[in-house]
Amino acid sequence: MAESFGKNTDKFNYLRQAAEEKLTVSDKELISVKKNKPYDIKSLLHEINVLQSALEIQTDELNRVQGELTGVYRNIVNFYENAPLGYISVDVNGMIKTVNNFVLTLFQAEKFEITGQPITSYIFTEDIENYTESLRKNYLTGNSQNCEVKLISSRHNIIHARLTISGVNEEFGEHSDYKIIIEDISPQKNSEKKLADYRENVDDIIKEKTKELERINRFLEQEKNYAERLSRMKTIFLANISHELRTPLVGILGYSEIMMNELKDDEYVKMARRIQSSGTRLLETLNMILDFAKTETEKITLNIESVNTSEIVEDVTDLFRLMAEKKGLVIKVKGTGKPLYADIDERLFRQIINNLVNNAVKYTNSGSVEINLKKENDLLYLSVKDTGIGIMNNRLDNIFEEFGQVSEAYNKEYIGSGLGLTLVKRYTSLMKGEIKVSSEYGKGTEFTVILPVKAENISYISGSRKSSKKKSTGKILIVEDDELNYSLLKSFIEDSFEVSVATNFENALDMAKQNVYNLILLDINLGTDETGIDVLREIRDMKGYNRVPAIAVTAYSLKGDKENFIRSGMNDYISKPFTKKELIRKINKLLGNKA
Ligand code: ADP
Repeated sequence: MAESFGKNTDKFNYLRQAAEEKLTVSDKELISVKKNKPYDIKSLLHEINVLQSALEIQTDELNRVQGELTGVYRNIVNFYENAPLGYISVDVNGMIKTVNNFVLTLFQAEKFEITGQPITSYIFTEDIENYTESLRKNYLTGNSQNCEVKLISSRHNIIHARLTISGVNEEFGEHSDYKIIIEDISPQKNSEKKLADYRENVDDIIKEKTKELERINRFLEQEKNYAERLSRMKTIFLANISHELRTPLVGILGYSEIMMNELKDDEYVKMARRIQSSGTRLLETLNMILDFAKTETEKITLNIESVNTSEIVEDVTDLFRLMAEKKGLVIKVKGTGKPLYADIDERLFRQIINNLVNNAVKYTNSGSVEINLKKENDLLYLSVKDTGIGIMNNRLDNIFEEFGQVSEAYNKEYIGSGLGLTLVKRYTSLMKGEIKVSSEYGKGTEFTVILPVKAENISYISGSRKSSKKKSTGKILIVEDDELNYSLLKSFIEDSFEVSVATNFENALDMAKQNVYNLILLDINLGTDETGIDVLREIRDMKGYNRVPAIAVTAYSLKGDKENFIRSGMNDYISKPFTKKELIRKINKLLGNKA
C-alpha cells in the first residue's frame, strides 16, 4: 500500500508540476498576488487552474491509451476473425453465442443463422455423445478436452473436425460459457479414407488376382491332364504302329538274310541284298522316328549296366563295312583290341555309334572313316572321324537341331531324316556326357562323344573277343504262335543250339514237362488269353525249372516294356526285328557261354 501510495503521490506531484508549467502569464501574475496575500481569492483560482490543467493532461493521456487499446483490440479481433481455426462460444444451455469467420466459412452460413442455435444441431447424431462426454469431462476436471466429430454444414456438407473444449470460469469458479476451438481435419481424414479405400482396393485387387491365378491354375491343370492324355494316346499309338511295322519287317529282314546266305545265283543274292538294305533303311527310319518321339513324349529311363564297349563298337561298325566298301571307303577301328567294360546304357550307346558311323560313311565319298575308343580318367571317349564333305563353320550349330540338315543346302545327294544327331546329343546328355564336333569344309569331320563312367567298373579283361565266336550249346524252347516268327527264330539259332517250338500255352507246358530246356524264348502275345508271361509262370513252378532263364521276344519296344517283362520274371528282352548276332549274344550271356 505504501508503495502504491508513494507512487500516487509521485504521480500527483508530477501532474502538478506539469500543470503549473502549463499556466499562462496571467496565472503567473496570480501567483505573485498570492505571495503577497496568501488567502485571497486569486490564490484559490490558481489552485483550480492547476487542477483543471492536470485533468486535461490526464484526459490526453487517457485518450492516447484508449487509442492504443483500440488498435490492439482491432488486431485481436482481426486475429480472432481470420484465424485458421474456428472459435465458437456456447452458453451453458449449449446455444451458440459467438463464432468467428472461420466457422461461418466452414458452416457455409451467415452469423445470424448460427447464433442462438444449439451447437448439437451441427454435430452428427452419432457423434453427439462423444461431444457431450468431452463437455462433461471438462466440467469435472476444468481441463480442456479434445474430441473428433463430424460436423454438418448448412449446405449438408460433412466436415471432419477436432474440437478443443474449455469452460470459461467467469465468476466464482463456475462454468458459464464454453469456448470451442474447431480444427478442420477433413483433408487429413479424406486422405486417411483414401488410404483405407486404397488398402481395401489393394485387398480386392489381390483377391481378384488370386482368383484369376486359381482360374489359370485350374485351366493349366486341365490342359496338363489333356496333354498327358494325349501323350498316353500317342504312346499307345506309337506302340501299335511300332508293332504293326516291325512285325512284317521281321519277315522281310530275316528271310532276306537267309536268302542272302542260302541262294547260289548271284542275281538273286543281289536282289535279296536289296530287300535287306531297303528293309534296314525302313527299319532305321522307323526306329529313328520312334526314338525321337520317345524322347519327346516321355522320360527315358536309363538302363545302366556294365557292358563291353569294345564289342559294341565292333558290332555296330561291322554293320557299315559293306556300305563303306561299296563306296571304296576304309573303316578303321582303334582301341577295341581288348574288351573295355563300362557302366553305360547299351541301347543308347549303340544308337550313338550307329548314327555317328552311319553319317560318317554317308557323308564321305573317298578316303576313310576312323573310329577310336579309349578311356582316360573315368571318361570314355568315342570319336568318329571321316575324310568327307565336312560342314561349314556357320552351320555347325544347326546340325544338332531336330531336322537340321546342312546337306539340304548342297544338294539332295544325301538322304536322311535330320534326327540322327539330335538323338545322339540327347542320348549323350542323358548319360551326362558331352559331344564335340570339329570340321573343315571339304576336308572332313570329327565327332567326339565323352561319357563319364565309374572308374572301378571299367577294366580291361584279358582274352580275345574272338572267343565269342565259339560254338555254343544248350537246349532252347521257343514259345511262339506265329509261324513266320518261330521259323525265323529257329533258323537264327538252330546252328548253335538244339531248338524246339511250342505254338501255344498247353503245348509249351507239355513240352517243358517231357524235356529239360536250358533257356526259353517266349513271345508275349500268343493270340489267346494266356500270354508268354503266363507260360513262364507255369514252367517256373515245374520241378527243375525255377531258375530257367527266359527271354521275352516282342514287337513292342516302348519305354518301360523291359522293366515290365523283367518284373514278370523274364531275364531279358529282345525287340523285333533283331539281328541273329544280337539274339545269339543275349542267349549266350544268359547261358553263361563266353561272350
Ligand atoms: P541326317 O539324317 O540328315 O544325316 P543328322 O541329324 O544325322 O541328320 O545330321 C544332321 C546334318 O549334319 C546332316 O544333314 C549333315 O548335313 C550334317 N552331318 C552330320 N554328320 C556329318 C558328317 N560326318 N559329315 C558331314 N556332314 C555331316
